[in-house]
Amino acid sequence: MKRAFFSFSISSLLLVVLLCSCNSVLKKECENCGGDGYTMKECDECDGNGYVVVTCQECDGDGYFRCSSCSGTGRDECFSCSGRGYDECRRCDGTGWDDGESCFSCNGTGRKECFSCSGRGYDDCSSCGGDGRVECDECNGYGKLKARCSECDGEGKVKKTCVDCDGEGKVSVLK
Ligand SMILES: [Zn+2]
Ligand SMILES: [Zn+2]
Ligand SMILES: [Zn+2]
Ligand SMILES: [Zn+2]
Ligand SMILES: [Zn+2]
Ligand SMILES: [Zn+2]
Repeated sequence: MKRAFFSFSISSLLLVVLLCSCNSVLKKECENCGGDGYTMKECDECDGNGYVVVTCQECDGDGYFRCSSCSGTGRDECFSCSGRGYDECRRCDGTGWDDGESCFSCNGTGRKECFSCSGRGYDDCSSCGGDGRVECDECNGYGKLKARCSECDGEGKVKKTCVDCDGEGKVSVLK
């Protein structure tokens, strides 16, 4: 009999304590995050731009490739004169003499300036226009590319666990 009374008082005491704690602590929606449990913050990786600038893999950051057609010289050897810049005078067959006199056609030199290359012996490379290099298609000569930021998926903002509610979306308030 005595024992039964004792256990009853313990359990009732426990009940009171439990009720007390329930009343004193209330969960309410976190104002900081609006109950979402997270807040949006600017992405550190891209400074909020949504993209990052990376070195172009295609040209290794140079922006240009050496022209393969002219090996970077910018010049194509003149096909007409084989790069010499002149042709043999046809009148004197390159001898400089015409019927025992100095050839008037080539002034006795036996050579006529190549018409095709104006005597230079080369033409500007048709592939690169004489630059010796061609622009990288991938980066249009910048050597760098904008790439979508993987950290924020191009959004410029990332979800950050709410510090006020620790991602719960609700905070405990004492009544
Ligand atoms: Zn919150
Ligand atoms: Zn490039
Ligand atoms: Zn070229
Ligand atoms: Zn001649
Ligand atoms: Zn020529
Ligand atoms: Zn980012």
